[in-house]
Amino acid sequence: MAKQDYYEILGISKSASQAEIKKAYRKMAIKYHPDKNPDDKTAEEKFKLAAEAYEILSDENKKARYDQYGHAAFDGPQGGGGFGGGGMNMDDIFSQFGDIFGGGGFGGGFGGFGGGGGQRQARVKGSNMRIRVKLTLEEIAKGVEKKVKVRRKVQAEGVTYKTCTTCNGSGQQMRVTNTILGRMQTATTCSTCSGAGEIMSSKPNGADIQGLIVKEETVSINIPAGVTEGVQLKVGGKGNEAPGKNSIAGDLLVLIEEIQHENLKREGTNIHYDLYINFSEAVLGASKEVETVTGKVKIKIEPGTQSGKILRLKGKGLPSIERYGTGDFLIHINVWTPQELSKEQKSFFENMLEDENFTPAPNKSDKSFFEKVKDMFS
Ligand SMILES: [Zn+2]
Repeated sequence: MAKQDYYEILGISKSASQAEIKKAYRKMAIKYHPDKNPDDKTAEEKFKLAAEAYEILSDENKKARYDQYGHAAFDGPQGGGGFGGGGMNMDDIFSQFGDIFGGGGFGGGFGGFGGGGGQRQARVKGSNMRIRVKLTLEEIAKGVEKKVKVRRKVQAEGVTYKTCTTCNGSGQQMRVTNTILGRMQTATTCSTCSGAGEIMSSKPNGADIQGLIVKEETVSINIPAGVTEGVQLKVGGKGNEAPGKNSIAGDLLVLIEEIQHENLKREGTNIHYDLYINFSEAVLGASKEVETVTGKVKIKIEPGTQSGKILRLKGKGLPSIERYGTGDFLIHINVWTPQELSKEQKSFFENMLEDENFTPAPNKSDKSFFEKVKDMFS
C-alpha cells in the first residue's frame, strides 16, 4: 500500500510554517487521541500517522529530505528514520507531547535523562505509567502544582548489579553466520541480560526477579495554565524504574480531565457566564459582583439594559496553552421576568401596557440587540 503524504495526513500545504505544522498536529492528536477513542483502530492508526508525519515535518533536516525524496528518504538502510514499517511506538508519541502541549516544566525538566548523549547506545528504560488528573477551571486558569500518589516500581534498596559477562556490558551479542555471500555478523539483544548490559548480583528480600519493588511515592506535577481536556503531559523519569545501574526510569504520563463548572462554560480560552438580573435592575441599572476564574469582578449594569446583552471582560478568560493571549470572560445578561405579582404590581404593569416607554424598539435604543458586545475593560 502506498504511504500517504505527510502533508496530506496533517491537512496542510507544503508551504506550511513550523507553527502551522505544530498546530495541525496538535489538532489531530487531540481528535484521535486513544483516550478519547477507546478501541477505535482507525483513530489509533490516524493518531500514529499524524505523529509520524509530525516527527518528520517538525525536524527541518528530515523535512528537507522528505521534500526532496518523499518517503524514499526514510525507507532504505540509510534512512534511519525509525519507521521501517513498524510505525511509532505509542510511548514515543506521548513523549512528543511535552513539546506540543507543554509548558516549562515538562518533557525534560524532570529527571534530566536522555540529554547527555551517553556512551551506551541502548539504555534500558522502565515502562511508562499513566494517571488522570482532574482540574477545576480555576486551576486551569492559573496553572497548578498537583501532588499525586503513584505506585511505581523502583530498584530495591541494597540491590546491586554487575556487568553482564555474556555481552561484556554491551547488551548485544554478535552472531556470525556463514552465508552464500560470506560471513555475516548480526547483533542480537543479549539473552542473559535482555540488553541491559548488567545483571543483578545481590537481591534484597522482597524484591522481584529484576531487583525491583513497588513503592508509593508522591510526585508533584506542574500543570501549566490553559490545559484542555484530553491533553497528556509527561513527567520524565517518574514512571517505573528498570533494573541496572545504567537504566533509566520510564515516564509518568498525565492525562488532563476538566471538571465541569457549575456556573461557567468554557469555549476554548473564552468563558461564558449567564447573569440573571431582575426587572428593576434592568430598568434602573445596577452594580453587580461576578465571580470569574481569577476572582471577583465588579460590573455595572447600565439603566435600560436588554436581556441578551453580552458584557465582555477582556483577558479574564483562560490563557492559551501556547502562551499567547488570554481569552475573555463573557457575561450574558438575562432579565428575570417576575412570575407572581401583587395586586398593585399587576395594576402598575397594566397601566404600562399602552405606555410608549414600554413599547419594544430594538432599532432605536440598541441596534445590535443580539450580538452587542461591550468591551468594558479594554
Ligand atoms: Zn548481557
